Amino acid sequence: MSNPPVLIDEAAILKRVGELADQISDDYADKGDLVLVGVLKGSFIFLADLSRRLSIPRIIEFIAVSSYGTGSVSSGAVRLVMDVRGNIENRHVLIVEDIVDTGHTLKYLIGILESHRPASIRTCSLLHKAESAEVDVKIDYVGFSVGDEWVVGYGLDFGEQDRTLPYIGTVAPDDRNGG
Ligand code: 5GP
Repeated sequence: MSNPPVLIDEAAILKRVGELADQISDDYADKGDLVLVGVLKGSFIFLADLSRRLSIPRIIEFIAVSSYGTGSVSSGAVRLVMDVRGNIENRHVLIVEDIVDTGHTLKYLIGILESHRPASIRTCSLLHKAESAEVDVKIDYVGFSVGDEWVVGYGLDFGEQDRTLPYIGTVAPDDRNGG
């Protein structure tokens, strides 16, 4: 099978990740350890690159939710699969997502993390499908806006495939329907 067509190439991603890291480092300067909460599985590569570009002290945590099964059609339902393990009470938390589509997942995550009583919660997503928003949820740091198409690569999958592509590509509608 041929590789998905390129939507955002590797150089553009790394440049933008560097810009986000600089902005986050400025915003959290002198605030103590920033807790980066990566949302599994899709954010793992973005989190790895972003966290290494920060110039402030940081701690890595992970949380896992399940929302879409293995396909590309939203069920709307979000379920907690794994909560953060470390103590984040009174700490500044930044949720690191791969993509925000309807916003249901991010809203759910904020609720879960608020129950841990952090000092603050902000949100960062590499990609945002702005036209698909169903829920009013603020994304403090956005890498790129994308249209309503299924994207893969740089951590994002289609049926667990293509996560390790170095760029963001698109999956053709035919592939989405037919597997
Ligand atoms: P939301 O709850 O905002 O509708 O969906 C968020 C989740 O849906 C993301 O964390 C991701 O797992 C999945 N998702 C939405 N759109 C895409 C996409 O285009 N590609 C991939 N790989 N995942 C997506």
